[in-house]
Amino acid sequence: MVLHEVEVQPRKLDDYAADAGDEAVERLRAAAEPIRGLRLLHVNSTSYGGGVAELLSSQVPLLKDLGIEAEWAVIDGSDEFFAVTKAMHNGLQGMDVGWTSGMESVYWERMRANALSFPDGYDVVLIHDPQPLGILRVLEDERRREGTWVWRCHIDLSQPDDGVRGFIEPIANRYDQVVFTLEEFAQAGIIDPGLAFIPPSIDPTTDKNRQLPAGVVTEVLHRYGIDPEHPLVVQVSRFDPWKDPIGVIDAFRSAREQVPGLQLVMAGAMASDDPEGQEYLQRTVHHAANDPGIRLLTDADGVGHAEVNAFQTAADVVIQKSIREGFGLVVAEALWKGAPVIGGNVGGIRIQIVDGETGYLVDTPAECGTRLTELLRDPALRRRMGDTGREWVRRRFLCLREVEDHVRLFASLA
Ligand code: UDP
Repeated sequence: MVLHEVEVQPRKLDDYAADAGDEAVERLRAAAEPIRGLRLLHVNSTSYGGGVAELLSSQVPLLKDLGIEAEWAVIDGSDEFFAVTKAMHNGLQGMDVGWTSGMESVYWERMRANALSFPDGYDVVLIHDPQPLGILRVLEDERRREGTWVWRCHIDLSQPDDGVRGFIEPIANRYDQVVFTLEEFAQAGIIDPGLAFIPPSIDPTTDKNRQLPAGVVTEVLHRYGIDPEHPLVVQVSRFDPWKDPIGVIDAFRSAREQVPGLQLVMAGAMASDDPEGQEYLQRTVHHAANDPGIRLLTDADGVGHAEVNAFQTAADVVIQKSIREGFGLVVAEALWKGAPVIGGNVGGIRIQIVDGETGYLVDTPAECGTRLTELLRDPALRRRMGDTGREWVRRRFLCLREVEDHVRLFASLA
């Protein structure tokens, strides 16, 4: 089978009451009652690495616990296909990618291959991002379309490349419903489906986000040669131009002139659907130039969820200097751990960082360096922002809220 199912670890709604509150648990349970037994299929392009895989590994089991028959399947790609879908992704984020009919052929060939094994019998199919978007058209052409189809686009497409937009729009218009993170991402040409706006969220019970014992945090720091006695700045992100790792290094270096001994950790797992990762990692390595204050780490160095948690927990300041960002789960993850976050003034980062309250929004590496220095010199300000940030996430960006938004959407479509 080309399209393959992802196994998920079971989760219990009641385990979320401590973080999200009893009321949130009960409200969600009541919202899901009318759609118990709904057959729901989530489809994306990778089971590991990147934000969508992170969301689905929590939300699919939570939906199951609510009595919804939720499944998760991953499409099968190829290096050539993922190069094309990365160009699609970059184009939707505004890069001029020189979209060609040859790219379209590669895309449709894989869509047809995945459609061959597309399972029957789902009430709702939720397609994530552009990689599997075209399966619906193939099924319609073969008269095999069933159920309600929802496209969940996580990308910041406020300024898309015209070629890619022209390709995407007629496909998206076949859907019943499109979900964007923010209203500003909606496109004038996507006119047929219903529109909804749902920000993503984090799971407070995972190894990535639960509170770690102090000893574990220190052990992880030691393991990677980080001195717990010296200040630490962290960015957790794929090595990708949109995450501006080069700008992060420049900001770090300018702050270190004022704060001697400052350390930087940049951790980025290499997602299987991201062929540019290796190349951009090499560019970042080159820019870091064996600087002893900088640690560049990937999953190949054993950086898994607990290690990311430890770095975010230990950080005096977390940076997410994206140039485009649909949401940026890492921002919510860091705020949840009480770290102030300096983020790029773009997309979904703007609804997480309240400028001057939970961190700072910045437009340039120089501004990032200035804010970084300011925060590193003021522990009371860091603590205040950290406390505010954690509450901000508790109220808005924990996964029960997102599951509830989806459940209400499914109920409205039924
Ligand atoms: N992530 C991780 N290890 C890494 C880098 C990233 O587990 O080395 C996780 C990160 O904690 C977050 C997700 O991958 O949960 C990235 O999601 P985000 O929305 O920030 O960015 P995306 O990769 O989807 O653009």
